[in-house]
Amino acid sequence: MDHPVTVLGAGIVGICTAVALAERGYAVRVIDRKGPGQETSYGNAGVISPWSVVPQALPGTWRNIPKLMFGTYKPLSVHGRAWPRMLSWGLRFLRNGSEDRVRHISDAMSLLCSPSVDMYRRYLVDAGADHLLKPAMYVHAFRDGSRATLNAIDCAIRREKGADLELVGADGLRRIEPALSHDFQAAILIKGQARAMSPGKICKALANYAATLGVEFETAAIQSLERREAGWTVICDGADYRADTIVIALGVWSRDLLSKLGVSVPLMAERGYHVEYPAPQVIAENSVMDTDAKVVASSMEGGLRVSGHAEFAPIDAPANRKKTDMLRRVAGAIFPGLDKTGETAWMGRRPSFPDNLPALGPVEGHDGLIANFGHSHYGLMMAPKSGQIVAALISGSMQNEDLSPFNPVRFR
Ligand SMILES: Cc1cc2nc3c(=O)[nH]c(=O)nc-3n(C[C@H](O)[C@H](O)[C@H](O)COP(=O)(O)OP(=O)(O)OC[C@H]3O[C@@H](n4cnc5c(N)ncnc54)[C@H](O)[C@@H]3O)c2cc1C
Repeated sequence: MDHPVTVLGAGIVGICTAVALAERGYAVRVIDRKGPGQETSYGNAGVISPWSVVPQALPGTWRNIPKLMFGTYKPLSVHGRAWPRMLSWGLRFLRNGSEDRVRHISDAMSLLCSPSVDMYRRYLVDAGADHLLKPAMYVHAFRDGSRATLNAIDCAIRREKGADLELVGADGLRRIEPALSHDFQAAILIKGQARAMSPGKICKALANYAATLGVEFETAAIQSLERREAGWTVICDGADYRADTIVIALGVWSRDLLSKLGVSVPLMAERGYHVEYPAPQVIAENSVMDTDAKVVASSMEGGLRVSGHAEFAPIDAPANRKKTDMLRRVAGAIFPGLDKTGETAWMGRRPSFPDNLPALGPVEGHDGLIANFGHSHYGLMMAPKSGQIVAALISGSMQNEDLSPFNPVRFR
């Protein structure tokens, strides 16, 4: 059967796109070399927030880089082979740290993040899996209480957009997260969020829901795309698939596919890691960030997950054990009562552009090709709205939302 729309990639972005299209009555095929949600979308920290509207580059961020790279926790690193790409990427990243650019990017992030909790709630109820989403706060915990302030630009922007924030001291923090180390002296609470109890299971539940709407999932490794008279052909190992419209949702792997069509995008693999403890004997009731180590902890169905690191590396470079060792140490420091028995470790690749925004919309010069990738640190929470935007573009029902910040070729 011909499928008018074929979505490449069954990460959370591809799955949410397929759901949005199928709900509008489209015949949709999804192609992935693995099952749904087995790459980056499997192992993330599970934060789903309308208030993640602050990009990574802020005024003055450049001053923190030496500490982030060479300080106690080293959450930021660059693999030797990634430096050639990193230099121009890094300059673009820092240029996005002016207050004007931050506010512009923040508005675009808000378009994608603000409906995320409500959209997941609705999708997961329909999928019979609403237990996978829990209301939560984002607890930004500080060892040095004097650093916890609501006056910084990130808090100001969140508040302007309607977030409810509160500053609490050591006692207040203890009441909310009793298992946390007494080293933490203060916290900023970002209220009105949600957290995923298992990002991988959310992918599977939504893929099953998509299948009930008629979406077909094919397992195949995609090699290239060809424009032929009657639309597009997806060339895979072992089979070719025809489609009128293609949505590229291959996460960090989208760059290589597009480069075969002569489209160059500055997408980097910003790798992150997690360690997970199946019987931890401690609970994180919310998404808890250790603001020194830039590590996020959250109790999930599989146990306590502790995630972090921003390691720019070639896509296929082997995982770096030093990163896991650091996470293990930080996990023990955050939760002194942590039982580490049965620990598992994971590495995934954030698909990151220098402005933290995805490529979302038609690819100029290639009729019927739509980008939906590059969601960096925010792909779980941005996926539902991104998918809905793609469905609206394809069905011609796009309202007057400004998609220019997401133009796939904006970096030319
Ligand atoms: C440590 C960590 C913590 C994070 N925490 C959060 C968080 O708390 N909240 C949040 O919103 N985001 C978070 N993120 C970011 C988020 O996980 C990503 O933005 C998101 O998963 C990207 O989804 P995706 O569908 O674009 O990519 P992916 O999940 O990587 O999916 C891409 C798919 O394409 C398939 N594919 C690739 N190449 C081919 C090919 N040639 N042929 C066939 N199939 C192919 C892959 O198999 C894969 O299934 C985190 C990321 C990391 C690493």
